[in-house]
Amino acid sequence: MFNLLQSRKPFAWLRNATNLTEFKLRQQALYTMFPLAALSILISVGTLAYVSYRAATRIVLDQMRRDAENVAASFPFFIQTGRTLLINLADELAQDQEPAQWQQTLADGVTTAPFFDQITFVARDGNVLPSSPDIPKPSEQESQRAALAITSDMPSEITWYENPTTGNAALSFIIPVKDSQTGESIGALIGRSFLDNNPAVDPVLSLLQERIIGDGEGFIVDDTGSIILYPAHPELQQSAFTLDHAKPYIIPGYINAFRQTAQHGERQLLYLLPISGFTELSVVIVVPQKVAADLAFQIAFPTLIILIALNTVIVAALLWLMHRITLPLDSLVKSAEMIRDGQLDRPVHVQGSSEIKELGNSFEEMRLRLKRRLVEMERLLTVSRNVSSSLQLFRAIPPILSSVLDITEASGVRIVLKGSASRNLHSYAGGDIAAAMAALDATLLDLTEQQGALVVSQISRTTGIIDIKTVPPRIQAFAAFPLRSEQAFLGILWLAYESEHIFEESELAFLSALSLQSAVAIANARLFAIASERSRELETVLASTRDGMIVTDNDGRILLVNPAAEEYFDIHFETVHGKRASEVITIRELSDVLENLQAPAIEIELPVRNGKVLLANTSTMINGNTIMGRVAVLRDITTLKELDTIKTVFLRMVSHDLRSPLTYMRGYVSMIPLVGDLNERQVESLAKITSGIEHIAQMTMRLTHLSRLQFGQEVELELALVDVDETVREVAKELETQRKQKDITLHIEIEEKLPFLLADAMLYRQAISNLVINGIKYTPEGGTVRVRAHKGSDTLTVSVIDTGPGIREEDQERLFEAFYRVPQREGDPPRPTGSGLGLALVRAIAEAHEGTVKCQSEFGSGSTFSLTLPIRKPTLAS
Ligand code: ADP
Repeated sequence: MFNLLQSRKPFAWLRNATNLTEFKLRQQALYTMFPLAALSILISVGTLAYVSYRAATRIVLDQMRRDAENVAASFPFFIQTGRTLLINLADELAQDQEPAQWQQTLADGVTTAPFFDQITFVARDGNVLPSSPDIPKPSEQESQRAALAITSDMPSEITWYENPTTGNAALSFIIPVKDSQTGESIGALIGRSFLDNNPAVDPVLSLLQERIIGDGEGFIVDDTGSIILYPAHPELQQSAFTLDHAKPYIIPGYINAFRQTAQHGERQLLYLLPISGFTELSVVIVVPQKVAADLAFQIAFPTLIILIALNTVIVAALLWLMHRITLPLDSLVKSAEMIRDGQLDRPVHVQGSSEIKELGNSFEEMRLRLKRRLVEMERLLTVSRNVSSSLQLFRAIPPILSSVLDITEASGVRIVLKGSASRNLHSYAGGDIAAAMAALDATLLDLTEQQGALVVSQISRTTGIIDIKTVPPRIQAFAAFPLRSEQAFLGILWLAYESEHIFEESELAFLSALSLQSAVAIANARLFAIASERSRELETVLASTRDGMIVTDNDGRILLVNPAAEEYFDIHFETVHGKRASEVITIRELSDVLENLQAPAIEIELPVRNGKVLLANTSTMINGNTIMGRVAVLRDITTLKELDTIKTVFLRMVSHDLRSPLTYMRGYVSMIPLVGDLNERQVESLAKITSGIEHIAQMTMRLTHLSRLQFGQEVELELALVDVDETVREVAKELETQRKQKDITLHIEIEEKLPFLLADAMLYRQAISNLVINGIKYTPEGGTVRVRAHKGSDTLTVSVIDTGPGIREEDQERLFEAFYRVPQREGDPPRPTGSGLGLALVRAIAEAHEGTVKCQSEFGSGSTFSLTLPIRKPTLAS
């Protein structure tokens, strides 16, 4: 407390605490104990002050009473002296028969004894005879008293003032004068004695002035309340004295004690004592209250010093005790902080009570455990770092083995992996007895796969788990952990000791975690091997394929270019890898598609170097919901293009060059009957020739149309409004013979109010005819062919539905190619003859009219061919 008060900085005192615990204790002391101590000190000091002040006041008041009593005791002597002197003078006057002598006697009375200053005789009849002529006449009160003395024969005293302003007071002694013979009162004597120059008053004066306790003063008041004698302040003599502002002091036995605040502000103690025998006069003693306060302080001071000293000693002892208690706690806290900060190398040493020491030991144990756990974690971390950074087992496994040996101090450790072939085992080992352990590999592998982890602390006590005879003698304890990755059992990690070993829980947890890491490493390595193999395969495929391949990422940058594509574009993958497609490929159409994922994937023909033509097929690579980029597959179609050209040339040739010889042939054949009669065989032969010529003519016509439509860019359709209903019916009529020959039923189902088509009438009719011909041709005898015509929103479709053999899906793709005929497979019904031009022509006609032709068929259940053309309003131009 003293410290605290001295420093006047409680917070500095707090901060000076040598440790946290002490700080907390000090804090608590500051907030609870110290205020309490301060309060108790305050109360005791207050009580001390109060008690000592009261005692001091009593002492002072006692002294004041004694002083007052002293004054009062000395006053009667003065009065008695005055009375005696005046009675003697009265006797003299009474014996003096000659009244003429009286004035002289009175004058002598003043001069012989230095007591009275003025003496006056008041006769019974009221006449006044002064001792000297200049004496003031008796006052009214003196006269009254004189009359009273004459009648009652009683002496008395009364104050008299020479001049109300000078303060010079006198005491008037009044004595009756009796006739010496008759004994009757003849008058009274009034003897005035000025108090401040009467030697008989001196003892009183000195008492009042000097002998009062402290710096106190005393004065005498008369019954009118006037101060008659105030040696310390003569100027106040004759002024009024009241007790109006004084409060009685309520202490038993002190009825006349008061306290008051003087006009000049000083607090005073007051004691009033009437003078016994002279009740008109009272002694008043005034002492400053400070005297009592000083005395109280003197009384209390030693006790206060003792109190403070005692408190200081207690607080010091308390602080010392606090420090003593907190010192071991502090070292505990420091140790805890070090552990918290990861400084685990410094051992924890705590001195103190047995509980604290025990706590210290627990801390030390905790530190050691933590340290070990940390080492294990570090090892695990190293292992997992190795596992994630290396995808090869010969790199990932050695750190795992050495971690096991370091942490567990085992004599040997093995990782045994199942190979792809059932009894084929791969193992990795470390430690002194690793080689001897190999004998148990297969057994433990099987056991662990079936039962999970195995822990044996002492081989000799094992019952049932393993046949002891098979265990090599050096192995005394072991533990085996399965290595599993996504349920697949990959192998085991097992370790052995040459002596008995109790496996702690933390040790087992560490080994399990390590096994998990090992399993991850092994699974990763296997996956990596598979992935590498696949990648190699893919590389080989990509490298050996004749189709070019360019892959871009979703930012349009080149990811892959295979050797074929390198050759087509004369580029090298190494130099273009990562570049934007547009920087590498000069063909805008292709680079745009590869770079811009928003652009639709397309199929385009590209002329490249050396007159080659490529067909680029682009598509978007999507993995799940993510767009990965684009891929373009480039096929060399140069040969196909050449073939197409040959086909075109051939078509042109046939259509142009065959037309005129056919015309001749037709002319000459028709002329033969005109030459002469022909026999039956000749007529027959001629009919066959005519039919053959017609067939060739038909074919030539188809070829002409086809070549015109397919290859002639200058195609000009002769557009006219075509009545579809009429066209269909004409075609049906035309083919009536063929239909009947095969006993085919033909249904014509035409929607009502079909609009006219704006089309080339001849070609449109040709197309419908080709479809119906095929229907009849390929439908077996007795079958049915339907021709339907109906209107779509702005199209018109004619469908030919037959009950023929149908077309396999794989054959449907090429049906519309010129000269293509569906190949005849084993078991198929015999195929009617044909040129493979019919459907090609239908498509050419459809496309020339911006329409389409489609085949829907299922092998074995008929086919439907639909020709759809847009309905167009005739314009002025058309
Ligand atoms: P062609 O009939 O002269 O052989 P097309 O171009 O008319 O030539 O037909 C091509 C091929 O399509 C035929 O060879 C035939 O195999 C097949 N085909 C056409 N129409 C039908 C059909 N209605 N039913 C079955 N196969 C058909």
